[in-house]
Amino acid sequence: MELFNTLTGKIEPLYASDGKALRFYCCGPTVYDYGHIGNFRTFLHVDVLRRSARLFGMKLHHVMNITDVDDKIIRNASAAGQSIGDYSAKFEKAFFEDMDALGVERPEDVPRATENINEMAALIERLAAEDIAYKAEDGSWYFRIARDSEYGKLSKKDFEGIEDGARVSVDEYDKDAARDFALWKATKPGETSWQTALGQGRPGWHIECSAMAMKYLGNSFDLHAGGEDLMFPHHENEIAQSECATHQPFARHWFHVRFLLVEGKKMSKSEGNFYTLRDLLLKGYRASAIRFLLLSVPYRHQLNFTFDGLTESTNAVDRLRTFHTRVRDGKWPERASNGAAIAEVIRTGEEKFLAALGNDLNTAEARAAIFDVLRAVNTAADHGNFTSSNAEATLALLAKFDSIFAVLEDRDADLTRAALAWAKAEGRLDEADPQVIEKFGEAGLSDADIDALVAERTQAKRQRNFARADAIRNDLLAKGILLEDSKDGVRWKRA
Ligand code: AMP
Ligand code: ZN
Repeated sequence: MELFNTLTGKIEPLYASDGKALRFYCCGPTVYDYGHIGNFRTFLHVDVLRRSARLFGMKLHHVMNITDVDDKIIRNASAAGQSIGDYSAKFEKAFFEDMDALGVERPEDVPRATENINEMAALIERLAAEDIAYKAEDGSWYFRIARDSEYGKLSKKDFEGIEDGARVSVDEYDKDAARDFALWKATKPGETSWQTALGQGRPGWHIECSAMAMKYLGNSFDLHAGGEDLMFPHHENEIAQSECATHQPFARHWFHVRFLLVEGKKMSKSEGNFYTLRDLLLKGYRASAIRFLLLSVPYRHQLNFTFDGLTESTNAVDRLRTFHTRVRDGKWPERASNGAAIAEVIRTGEEKFLAALGNDLNTAEARAAIFDVLRAVNTAADHGNFTSSNAEATLALLAKFDSIFAVLEDRDADLTRAALAWAKAEGRLDEADPQVIEKFGEAGLSDADIDALVAERTQAKRQRNFARADAIRNDLLAKGILLEDSKDGVRWKRA
């Protein structure tokens, strides 16, 4: 499996350098609000990286931090009259609910910043011992960039013209050089702070990731991930702090996910094109379709998220599910005149699928390979050219596909219902589409209700009470539930 490395600018093999597990770190969320689809694009591609590494035979040690102290959290918590702990706990919980809804696997370790303050202080002390960290008059600590000859190697920014070491006084900052960055921030009385050997204060943001990555993964580890905005200054500063403290290389491979556009524009609240996952669920879009769309374009390319795209993605997931059910439940003959030809199509489809993932996680080609197989198998099956062993091979391929894309299992209605329950509890039900409330809300039917009505209809038909059977079908249709009669019985799905 090969992956682009931002640090070297090359596509390079991905491997576990200790021969045991792929040790990787992903910058996690700042839990001050609900996650938006841009955040989730990044976490979903890291999920695909994780799942692909496993498919290629690697064991995983994946760490993601929770940033549960920062300016925005402190500001919002105080506006809400809450402690930062209570405030951030709510959004951390919501974040994991959303990640679960999107089928994102949990990393092996998820440390919180506030639970690793001592590790951060110790790291800053190591830098201070070499005079790479220094204390400013106000009690804050800064990193002396002039001491790091490799500074800029990740982002490849040109720092020429910025005079190293020259004393620059910049507004409120009291540091030796304008670009020196904060490791530890002195706090005013009443602000959230910790007492450490550095004095009273709270950590700067960058130091948390260095401290937690090295605590869980060791000084040198395999890969570090995050959205493209983090490359500079956050990741550049992580490298500087870590490597100057340990004199060892920090992460070997750097993985950055490109930002998305929404309807062709940068997503922003002022543009009115800013969406959280919950916004979309309340509009009636399915979690599976959102996952599939956010993964449809490879991570290094810009994705333009559109509502047309979301509708197409919904149809694509439906096609895959219908296909999976057909292959699984169909009665296929043991022999067919052309079974060998379709066996070959399935085999090359699998090869292409794996090659696409192995080639810098090309999710678009991986997905296309599966749709090629879908079309060929459907045609073969329509013409009686599909055998039970072809079906087995197809199901095995679909299982591999789903170990990465994770959209075949249908949890969508339950997830929409959970979003409605959340909106109700928060007094935000007015943000939900009225049709969604009608279909899934309290007035809506649960899966068990539908199963019961379908059984009642079957019974009515058996008793030749066609009026009752038709009435049930029409009622269900009005609520967006489609019935499909097949020789194996009745299947239903939500439109
Ligand atoms: P934050 O909670 O703001 O620290 O962001 C969490 C993750 O989401 C980071 O890896 C960010 O780089 C990433 N991220 C933020 N906005 C976007 C976006 N519009 N598109 C893709 N990733 C993003
Ligand atoms: Zn980070």
